[in-house]
Amino acid sequence: MSGNITFTMLKPDAVENNHIGAILQKINEAGFRVRAMKYTRLTPEAAGQFYAVHAARPFYADLVKYMSSGPIVAAILEKDNAVTSFRDLIGATDPTKAAPGTIRALFAKSIEANAVHGSDSDENAQIEGSFFFSALERF
Ligand code: UDP
Ligand code: MG
Repeated sequence: MSGNITFTMLKPDAVENNHIGAILQKINEAGFRVRAMKYTRLTPEAAGQFYAVHAARPFYADLVKYMSSGPIVAAILEKDNAVTSFRDLIGATDPTKAAPGTIRALFAKSIEANAVHGSDSDENAQIEGSFFFSALERF
């Protein structure tokens, strides 16, 4: 049984390049409702914690630096089958491999600066949502 919640971040490249509005429009048009949202910035420590699962990967140090390099938009989204549906909407990690029309194909700058994050499982959607939002910040 798949859940109806996923978590996303509009990453520093998307915010820096003024793509917040266009990306949120795509998300809404795909049928997602926003349940929580904030404009914020990760410290290097927080970015390292968020991506701790990738700590052993060669790209980790750069990723932490990049994700703390500027403001982001964090959000909890609701839709049936949210995790899979959102991964389909954003496309492959590497924008050169992302399907045409996906958010990463349209807005990502590189495999690192790839515009958006999307949770990879229902369990991680809950963990990641709780990383940014308290119960009182979800509507
Ligand atoms: N990343 C990177 N180089 C890589 C793979 C990933 O810089 O070779 C970055 C990229 O920003 C990606 C994030 O690390 O979104 C997390 O990687 P993951 O494999 O979880 O990709 P995602 O789930 O975001 O598609
Ligand atoms: Mg991932």
